[in-house]
Amino acid sequence: MSDKIDRYAVFGNPVEHSKSPFIHACFAEQTGQQLEYTAERVEAGDFENAVARFAENNGKGLNITVPFKQEAWRLATRRSERAERAGAVNTLVINGKNDYYGDNTDGIGLTRDLTNNQKLQLQDKNILIVGAGGAVRGVIEPLLATRPASLTIANRTRQKALQLEHDFSDLGNVRGCGFDEFGSIDYDVIINGTSASLSGELPALPATLIHENTFCYDMMYATEATPFMRWAQLHGAKQVVDGKGMLVEQAAESFRIWRSCEPETAAVIEALARL
Ligand code: NDP
Repeated sequence: MSDKIDRYAVFGNPVEHSKSPFIHACFAEQTGQQLEYTAERVEAGDFENAVARFAENNGKGLNITVPFKQEAWRLATRRSERAERAGAVNTLVINGKNDYYGDNTDGIGLTRDLTNNQKLQLQDKNILIVGAGGAVRGVIEPLLATRPASLTIANRTRQKALQLEHDFSDLGNVRGCGFDEFGSIDYDVIINGTSASLSGELPALPATLIHENTFCYDMMYATEATPFMRWAQLHGAKQVVDGKGMLVEQAAESFRIWRSCEPETAAVIEALARL
């Protein structure tokens, strides 16, 4: 490994399954950038030291995944506005020793996939997002920026959804609720932002949420349809999509921040689907 090449990586645990090295290798080739991007497993308690070691070793930037996004937020010496509100950082720019700029590209990744790739018009739509963990916190602000008629956040642990309602209600029409409080709204878009699919589970949602015009999106991605996607298909959703596009779009935004150039995403999403 050359000392001179700019180094990037995704830090997480587990991280072996990560598609980020593949995606960033595609971006680098496409834009003619010389860089190295690897997936690095970091042990609990070693995050801060691992970042410092990486910085000393020509590390220029990091993507951060589960379970370190909050720790990365705390470690960042400066943060973008969107990362500040999200309370989580998935992108670090390493400017020098203990000089880390933190950003969060998950939200823009989701909205770009929905609006640019899926050609979904979100303005004036009723959106339901299921889950209230770190990923959902990161996508609320960009979703509200698309000016939906309403954004409902439903979570198994109701209190966490109410907290998000409280934290984001200055930005738009947002409501938090439990799984037995969906009300009489006809949701146009249902986004699964829970980690239930990771363990092959399905959030306990009533089938009546789905109608023939419902667009369903699982932030999780897999080689096969997730339990949420199968459930939505079974109950007649108009369209059912997984989170590959979000993954590539959030990576593209990180790449743009690091390298000041805009990679092309469509071909990479297709290549990822063929893996
Ligand atoms: P967290 O651990 O922070 O949050 C997990 C959430 O899922 C909580 O709201 C939890 O509810 C809920 N949940 C877990 N199991 C169930 C279940 N069986 N039924 C109902 N609710 C459940 O995870 P993250 O927010 O970091 O990640 C969520 C998902 O988003 C993951 O699948 C991840 O892969 C995906 N993701 C995708 C990205 C992409 O680029 N495509 C980017 C980032 C994340 P409770 O509060 O009640 O425990």
